[in-house]
Amino acid sequence: MTICIDTNCARLLVRLLLDKTRHAILIAKSFMSKNPTFKCIYCWRSGPDSFFDDEHVLSRSLCGQGNNWTLKNQVCKCCNSRFSKFENELLQQSAETVARAFSGPLGRSAKSNSGKRIQPLKINHLYVRNNNDPLIYEAGFSFPSEFYFRPQIIDAGNGQGLIPLVTSASEQPLLQAAVLKLFASPIRLTLPRTTKDKDYEIVEFNQVSGIWQEISRSRQDKPSSVFLREFQNVPFTNGATTRLALYDDGNLYFRAENLLDIIPFIEQLVGQKFAHPSPQKSNGPGNQEFLFGLSFNLIKIYKAILKTGVNLVAHFYGQEVISSGSLRNVRDILLEDKETTRAGTICRLSAAATLDFPLSQTDT
Ligand SMILES: [Zn+2]
Repeated sequence: MTICIDTNCARLLVRLLLDKTRHAILIAKSFMSKNPTFKCIYCWRSGPDSFFDDEHVLSRSLCGQGNNWTLKNQVCKCCNSRFSKFENELLQQSAETVARAFSGPLGRSAKSNSGKRIQPLKINHLYVRNNNDPLIYEAGFSFPSEFYFRPQIIDAGNGQGLIPLVTSASEQPLLQAAVLKLFASPIRLTLPRTTKDKDYEIVEFNQVSGIWQEISRSRQDKPSSVFLREFQNVPFTNGATTRLALYDDGNLYFRAENLLDIIPFIEQLVGQKFAHPSPQKSNGPGNQEFLFGLSFNLIKIYKAILKTGVNLVAHFYGQEVISSGSLRNVRDILLEDKETTRAGTICRLSAAATLDFPLSQTDT
């Protein structure tokens, strides 16, 4: 009798447990159908759709008009953010961009053909010299491929004073306000840093007994809003004098041969010592010399092309092909944090390196 009660109790308990389990499975299934998870074909991390971006199979900036193929819920936001750096490099720093300089490719976020276009030439320095004028001037480059003089103050050299240059009435108050801000406190200058540096080296200048001098150096997480840029590839011997220019980001940049040249510049600026007469202006087109520099990061360009290839495979053959591991080496190269390892070896194309496509896992 006791056993019988126990058996009934056990049956009831099992039925109750089964019901609860079925219920739990139903809830889980319902939850999963409302909140499915997806897996990134590159880093293999999983997450809900909010974790993913629509990835263009071919970069929109290369395709031009028309509908884009997209990989939906296959590439996570983290990987997409990494890849956009490669794509920008391909877009802005390959010789092919010169040919497209006058159209400007569409950016990734552009909704239509009239969307925002990207300046395809990434110029890291641009100088202009007018004929019959020994000075060189800082210039910028805007879409669609037009240069403009930056608001700037140039040291005429040999203690002759400074030469202010603005090309429109609206630039004058901007430059004046930036210079006033420069002297609001000790002048803090951010030195150039290498790609290895995570922080910034800041030099502070101030007056001591009426004389401007460097008073301290420190390393900080954030830069000060005044930067030092060195002259790059300037063949003009007498034109590369120190100058202060207002850049598009609103920051002031000193361009100088070295840090010591900043002090006489500051002294002339404080003493309001300006040069006379003003520099001779250009007679117009054909009377100016331009010097600009492009730098290429072949590794990023290579990775952008490699990623496009993987996207095409995923588009035509499904993400299982990528996830199978046969393209593990390719994925590993794309996910490298440092650009000095395998991609670097391939891009160097040294005699010792294979010129072949990165080996698939099945080939190794
Ligand atoms: Zn990912």
